[in-house]
Amino acid sequence: MVTKQDYYTSLEVERTTGKSEIKKAYLRLARKFHPDVNKDAGAEARFKEVKEAYEVLSDDEKRAAYDRYGHAAFDGSAGMGGSPFGGGSPFGGGGAGSPFEDLFESFFGGNGGGRQSGPPRGADLQTQIAIDFDEAIFGAERELNVTRMQICPTCNGNRSEPGSQPTTCLVCAGSGQVRRVQNTILGQFMTAAPCERCHGEGVIITDPCHTCNGEGRVRQTSNLTVTVPAGIEDDATMRLSGQGEAGARGGAPGHLYVRVRVRPRKGFARQGKQIHTEQPLDVAQAALGDEIEVPTVDGPAKLKIPAGAQTGQTFRLRGHGAPDVRGGDRGDQIVTVRVQVPTKLSNEQRALFEQLATSFGRKEKDRTAVTTEGKDAHGAKDGDKHGKSILGRMKEAIIGPDDE
Ligand SMILES: [Zn+2]
Ligand SMILES: [Zn+2]
Repeated sequence: MVTKQDYYTSLEVERTTGKSEIKKAYLRLARKFHPDVNKDAGAEARFKEVKEAYEVLSDDEKRAAYDRYGHAAFDGSAGMGGSPFGGGSPFGGGGAGSPFEDLFESFFGGNGGGRQSGPPRGADLQTQIAIDFDEAIFGAERELNVTRMQICPTCNGNRSEPGSQPTTCLVCAGSGQVRRVQNTILGQFMTAAPCERCHGEGVIITDPCHTCNGEGRVRQTSNLTVTVPAGIEDDATMRLSGQGEAGARGGAPGHLYVRVRVRPRKGFARQGKQIHTEQPLDVAQAALGDEIEVPTVDGPAKLKIPAGAQTGQTFRLRGHGAPDVRGGDRGDQIVTVRVQVPTKLSNEQRALFEQLATSFGRKEKDRTAVTTEGKDAHGAKDGDKHGKSILGRMKEAIIGPDDE
């Protein structure tokens, strides 16, 4: 029989070395001597030797037999009164094609379940911008500086140093998948899982790009122009598809989420497509009507106030509202008028209001009567003594007595 290297020597381990260390030793040597990687003369023979040693030493039963009988345990021709494994060596050489595949499968396929296949998608990013009230109506553009993982400019995401090529994964022989045959009492079952060595890619980067260390992406800051659509509302979030981080190992990029805050504009409120404003009117405008200018997001707009306008009355300025963010016509601006009763009057205004009061049909005497009939803090005589008009008393009530 051919003299064979001791299996423990082949794997460069001790007779007492545990299973996991044996596996590590095997992986290290298998990678070192794999014919796809190592073109040295004798590398393939060494690889087969390593492979054979591992097949025995990784199996408790075979290892026990080997420890007891040596190579003879697997050699049918040995006169040992019967090898525990029957006649003929089960390790009759690698054969053609991909002789290593089955071997690697036997331990890589074991815990392959549950892993996602393919490279992972890049991370999503989030940022926030602030725009003015009017920009939310008309749309805006913003420059954003985004620091994120991006495709490596040196290798264009290929991960290999320019000029070099990745090599076929020796674990899955380039298929990206490992299959495992499970023998059960019901028969053989074949399971498949993504190759863990190459993450299902079928290739290994043997000469990684020096810029990205073979990751295919690097952290960079770039300037992005974000177009905020007209009609966007406060606290809306825009999704910039594919503008997140580049995925590792060529995975799809993540998204960039931009939260938009809208700064308030004094005197303006937004409710969907409608813009609300308030418009003060003096008593004369309210009573007589007027044509006034009111502020809108489009600049001042004319608004006709009819005679007899009341506080709380609303007027509609068509087309001065906001568009829907999905497009379409703009909404309206709703103007609510507030009639303002003056709290300070010039002498002239006071005289005019006196006249007005008279005109409304109340004589001086009537007005006094009205006052004295009210909550009577002062009484009629008191009122007479001060000689104050209704408006004067109103004014007192609002801003306190003056120094007259
Ligand atoms: Zn690179
Ligand atoms: Zn692989």
